[in-house]
Amino acid sequence: MILFFYWGLSQVFADLLDAVIKERHNGYDPRTMTHPTDLDASKLQSGQFDERYVLSSRVRTGRSIRGLSLPPACTRAERREVERVVVDALAGLKDDLAGRYYSLTLMTDEEQQQLIDDHFLFDKPVSPLLTCAGMARDWPDARGIWHNNEKNFLVWINEEDHTRVISMEKGGNMKRVFDRFCRGLKEVEHLIQANDWEFMWNERLGYILTCPSNLGTGLRAGVHVKLPLLSEDPRFGEILENLRLQKRGSGGVDAAAVDAVFDVSNLDRLGQSEVQLVQVVIDGVNYLIECEKKLEKGLTIEVPPPIKQFT
Ligand code: ADP
Ligand code: MG
Repeated sequence: MILFFYWGLSQVFADLLDAVIKERHNGYDPRTMTHPTDLDASKLQSGQFDERYVLSSRVRTGRSIRGLSLPPACTRAERREVERVVVDALAGLKDDLAGRYYSLTLMTDEEQQQLIDDHFLFDKPVSPLLTCAGMARDWPDARGIWHNNEKNFLVWINEEDHTRVISMEKGGNMKRVFDRFCRGLKEVEHLIQANDWEFMWNERLGYILTCPSNLGTGLRAGVHVKLPLLSEDPRFGEILENLRLQKRGSGGVDAAAVDAVFDVSNLDRLGQSEVQLVQVVIDGVNYLIECEKKLEKGLTIEVPPPIKQFT
C-alpha cells in the first residue's frame, strides 16, 4: 500500500488518513498516541555483528522541508528550492562529515551507474510506485547525492523524499553506523534551522515523509547478511515477521537476493523510537545468525514468539 499526501492534507483529511495510518502501522492511533524520538546512540546494546555473516550495515531516514511540497506534488521550482536549501546547509558539515554535492545532471552515465552499483545512490526511477506518483517528473533535474569524503555519510536529494539521510559502511559495526547517523542527522537539522528552515514533524505522526509507511522515524536500519541455510528453511518468513524484520534483495527494494545475501531491516517505523528500532534489528539479526550457525551444525531451530508492539 502506498498513498501520497502532504502535510496540509493530513490535517484536512485526518478522519480518513488517521484510520489508514492506524491500519498500516499495527494499530498505532495518531488521535491518541504520541510518537517518541530518540537519537542517543549510546543506549544501544551490543551493536557489533559477526562479520562472517554481516557484510555491511546501514541506517537511513528521510526528512522533508516544511513549506515546500513533497515530490509527488511539487513544482520544478520547489524541487530546485529543496536542492538549494539542503545543499547550502550541508556545506556547513565539518571534520569527518565534510563532503560535497554531486548533481545527477552534471555526472556522466558511467559515474551514476557506478554509484548505484556500489549501493550509494538510488536507482533510476523504474519503480511504478515512483513513476505513477509523479516522482520521476523532470528527472534528473534537481536530483543528486551529497556525500562525505569517506562515503559513509550520504544525503540523497529529491528522490522519493526531499532528503534521505544515510550512514553506512562495510562490516558489522551497527553501533558505529548508528552513532554517525545520529550525530550527522542532528547536525544537518541544526544547519537547516540556522538558515530559518525546518523539518516537517508533529508529535502524533513524528517526521513526515512522502510515503505514509515511513511516518514516525522514517528509519530503516539494515544489514546485508548471508543466510544460505536459514533462507531455505520454510520458517524463515515467520521468524522474520515475529522478530519485526523485513527482507529485501541485496540490490534494494525491487531486487532478488544474490548468493543468499539479504537486506534485513526493521519492519516498523511509527510509535517506537530510533534507538528502539535499531535495537530490534540488532537483537533480531543476532537471532538469525544464531539460527544459521545451528543449521550449519545440523541442530534444530525455533520460531521465536512474536515481539509485542508499543511496549
Ligand atoms: P531505501 O529504503 O534506502 O530506499 P533501497 O531498498 O531502495 O533502500 O536500497 C537503496 C540502496 O541501498 C540499494 O543500492 C541497496 O543495495 C543499498 N543498501 C540497502 N541496505 C544496505 C546495506 N545494509 N548495505 C549496503 N547497501 C545497502
Ligand atoms: Mg527506496
